[in-house]
Formats: sequence, C-alpha cells, structure tokens
Amino acid sequence: MTDRLEIIKSTKRKAKPDAGNLVFGKQFSDHMLMMDYLEGEGWINPRIVPYEPISLDPAAMVFHYGQSVFEGLKAYRTEDERILLFRPEKNLQRLNRSSDRLSIPAIDEEKVLGYLKEFLKLEKDWIPTAEGTSLYIRPFIFATEPNLSVAPSKAYTFMVILSPVGSYYAEGIHPVGIYVENSYTRAVRGGTGTAKTAGNYSAAYKAQERATEMGQSQVLWLDGVEKKYIEEVGSMNVFFKINGEVVTPALNGSILEGITRMSILELLKSWGMNVSERRISMEEIYQAYEAGQLEEAFGTGTAAVISPVGELNWDGRKMVINDRQTGPLSKKLYDTLTGIQTGRLDDPFNWTTEIK
Ligand SMILES: *Cc1c(COP(=O)(O)O)cnc(C)c1O
Repeated sequence: MTDRLEIIKSTKRKAKPDAGNLVFGKQFSDHMLMMDYLEGEGWINPRIVPYEPISLDPAAMVFHYGQSVFEGLKAYRTEDERILLFRPEKNLQRLNRSSDRLSIPAIDEEKVLGYLKEFLKLEKDWIPTAEGTSLYIRPFIFATEPNLSVAPSKAYTFMVILSPVGSYYAEGIHPVGIYVENSYTRAVRGGTGTAKTAGNYSAAYKAQERATEMGQSQVLWLDGVEKKYIEEVGSMNVFFKINGEVVTPALNGSILEGITRMSILELLKSWGMNVSERRISMEEIYQAYEAGQLEEAFGTGTAAVISPVGELNWDGRKMVINDRQTGPLSKKLYDTLTGIQTGRLDDPFNWTTEIK
C-alpha cells in the first residue's frame, strides 16, 4: 500500500521555545509530514520523518516557473488539554483550489486530514499552552520534476511543517496604520489572486516596503484595473463598519477567500447584524469618514484573527478611525472567534475538530 502513513521518529528532540519567546515562523517541531506525486502513480508514500533540510535538483521546476501553493491554519490546546483544529477541511479544500489554478494535481482531502491528525498527535507537546499561543500549521506543495520546459511538472512534493507561535499581539490587540497602495497591483481578475501561491507574496514586497517607509504597518490593495475599489489588506481580508452596516469586498475573482472572513460573516449574520459583501470604493470610505460614519475597520486572517485599523492613508489624505482604539465590534469578534478556537466558548457552528 502506498497510501499508508509511515512514521520514522526522530532520535533527537529539540528544546521547546519558552512561551514568552515565540517568534512567528522561525522555530519548527521535531518532524515533518511529506508525500510525493508522480505522474501515473498519483500521491504516494505519505510519511512523517525527522525535520531536516530536503534536497532538490537545481532544475526542479518550482525554482523556475513557480508552481507552489500553501496553506496556513492553527492547532490550539484547550484549558482541559484537548487539541482543536479550526475548520481544517476548509483549508484543504482551498489548497486544492489553489493547486487547480496552478495546474498542480489535487490531494485527497480526507486522507490528508487523517495524516495531519496523526502528525499533530505525534507533535502534541509542541502545541504551546499559554494564553494566545498556538501551533501554526503550514501545508505546502511544490513542483520537483527536473525540467526547464515551460509546462506543468510531472512530479510534486506535499509537506506540512509546524511552528509554535505566540499571541500576535504581545501587548494586547492594537490598531494598525494602513497605507493605501495606488500603483502596484496584487492581483487582477483572471490572475492568481484567489490562490495562495508563492509569487503573489513576493510581488507584494515592493508595496509593503513603501508602506513601511511611510510609517504604516500594512498595505491596502485596490483593484488592479481602476485603482478605485478595495480588495484586501496585506494578507488579510478587510471589513468596514459604516453607519451600522458591516461591509466587506465581494469575492470578485482577485481576492483571496479567507476562512476567517467566511467565519466572521457567519458570526455577524447569526448576531442579526446588517452585513453585506459588495464592491466598496475608497471614495465611499472617504465620504463616510468625512460624514463621521466610518465607525470601525479591521483585517481578518488566521495569523492575527482580527487586526483593527487605526489609520488609513490614501493619496495624502489621512483618516483616523475610532480614535485609534479597538472598536467594540472588533473586540467582540476577536473574543468570540478566539473563544471558539481555543474551546473557551461553545462552538454552535461546529467549526472545531478535536484531535484524539
Ligand atoms: C491567507 C490569506 C488571507 C486570509 O485567509 P484566512 O483563511 O482567513 O487565514 C487573506 N488574504 C490573503 C492574500 C491571504 O494569503
């Protein structure tokens, strides 16, 4: 059987980082999960092996033409020592959608979720326990066939690595400054914006550098055609509360469909709030601001969950939102979502999966 999970345990154990010293994405657990794809054979040889560097042919197609996709999700340890995943099936579905866009063959979502659970059981001591901490899970796939022709690779590797992460907010949740990018484009309809594929992120660094130079922490991306309509913030989706209505850009073919975004929409609707997914122009936001109706703004994503926006800088115009304080809706969403994720609150939506 080529799809039975093989486990080769590491003979060495790394020291676990202190809870106070967790840096995002720099420390990794003792093992890694891998699986290969070969044309004609499909995905084969799932295995958990000691974490170590991998070797690739210099002609491996990922280096040349960028066939590479990834995911990001978290495992949480509850106060009563249970291990929870948040909507992991959504991440695996999205991984397959990203792969499809990049002509990478699909994985079997159910089998892979099973392997992932086994992997997390083996590495459970790597899930930190302190308030606000979790184990970040990074699945990814890349093309390995040694071949310089411009065509989809006939061989791939799937991997999962695990990194203990701290609370995104060392000093509690605090609003960030945003620079609205007017010339660089993240994605256009028909392009790869809806896929979590490596090149989207390297192509965004220039704008992020500009935001940093302007003293702002994130970029707000506008549509690539007219540079009028709001798409997303850095690697987060974005929401605004305008005069009581909560709005987020509709999925238009260039925005990444966040699982946090989807969950926030479901939560808001369950609270009976007035929510809509639609096209939102920067001009509309500015008008609402001038009229005193821009009540809150926040980004949503797995890493930070909710990231309140304290300031928007657009074409020389500065908008200070809610006095640079975290608004009541942002706070309530953060508390509710992290409460469900960590088992502190009930999970009426059945979003969490327990690993036993
Ligand atoms: C991952 C990501 C998001 C957020 O998605 P979540 O599933 O909520 O973590 C938003 N935008 C981009 C560009 C992303 O890569």
